[in-house]
Amino acid sequence: MLEIKNLHASVEGKPILNGVNLTIRDGEVHVLMGPNGSGKSTLSNVLVGNPKYEVTEGSITFNGKDLLALSPEDRSHEGIFMSFQAPIEISGVSMTNFMRAAVNAKRKYLGEDPMKPSDFLKMLREKRKIVGLDAHFMSRGVNEGFSGGERKRNEIFQMAVLEPTFSILDETDSGLDVDALRIVAEGFNTLRTPQTSALVITHYQRMLDYLKPDFVHVLVNGSIVKDGDASLGYEIEEKGFDWVKDIR
Ligand code: ADP
Ligand code: MG
Ligand code: MG
Repeated sequence: MLEIKNLHASVEGKPILNGVNLTIRDGEVHVLMGPNGSGKSTLSNVLVGNPKYEVTEGSITFNGKDLLALSPEDRSHEGIFMSFQAPIEISGVSMTNFMRAAVNAKRKYLGEDPMKPSDFLKMLREKRKIVGLDAHFMSRGVNEGFSGGERKRNEIFQMAVLEPTFSILDETDSGLDVDALRIVAEGFNTLRTPQTSALVITHYQRMLDYLKPDFVHVLVNGSIVKDGDASLGYEIEEKGFDWVKDIR
């Protein structure tokens, strides 16, 4: 479903990604690991179309479409979702209204009518339960006054509501205590279907335990230097990144 070929990307004129190749099929969960500054978040940002990140070479196709030709909004409507390392606050816009706008924009793109208000509220309630997010968060501004853990939980809630087919979790687990991490990971697992896939950026062994990824990739200096299964993740956890760099 997602095919990244020879991807090169720069930020502010500085080359960061140097020929990334990655194929993610329907139903697969891939974990991306790598030292700080290796380009993991850059890859996430390129996938969602953040304009600060310039693709200088290579291609990305998503369900047969040229992803790089689509606007960030259309990528989202096509089913791509990204949970941010540091979710931002949007004060003055309630969670309910924010999610309604997002859901109906996607429906419009797909040629569907807006959801009936009663159906929408029922759906929000069901999705909140998946991540254990209390009702009062819905009337607050987006992430306004949310703790770090609540923001992360809210990211998975948004994922639940938008029902993406491809999700990117960029260190959604960082800063979570063990209970919040379990809720986020279990919420993510609940949302998995044979049609959905994900790229999960994490440093935590506990996340590997919960997610049981199909593949693990190691990004060093903007290139994937090693691919493996979940056992590669545990090996990294144990030995760090230096031995992988040496292989290269
Ligand atoms: P990782 O997520 O693996 O820690 P990043 O993709 O965030 O790595 O960063 C890779 C490199 O790109 C770093 O050197 C970082 O400073 C640089 N970089 C990333 N985003 C920006 C940005 N918006 N402006 C300037 N430099 C950036
Ligand atoms: Mg980082
Ligand atoms: Mg990062």
